[in-house]
Amino acid sequence: MHSEHCIECSKKIIIPNLPVDQKREIRELLRDNKRIFAVKQLVAAAGLSLSVANTLMNHINPDFAHCHHCDFKELKSENCVCPRCNAFNTNWDLR
Ligand SMILES: [Zn+2]
Ligand SMILES: [Zn+2]
Repeated sequence: MHSEHCIECSKKIIIPNLPVDQKREIRELLRDNKRIFAVKQLVAAAGLSLSVANTLMNHINPDFAHCHHCDFKELKSENCVCPRCNAFNTNWDLR
């Protein structure tokens, strides 16, 4: 587990170490517009508080490489800052 700082919203983001199947489940829920269940899953899987999980969830992009905040679509690494809008992205590569 480590933390990152988002320049765009000036929030601290806690990044837990999650197994790929957990990440896949959480992103599936996010993509199905079941955000509340995705947050609950994050709380259960990573042992985060609800507010910490919520902040992290705000930075998980539903589509790999696509920024959650703007229309930039070429994010490269798993935890990265969008070069267009400066938003931190939890860019899980689950392909
Ligand atoms: Zn942010
Ligand atoms: Zn962006």
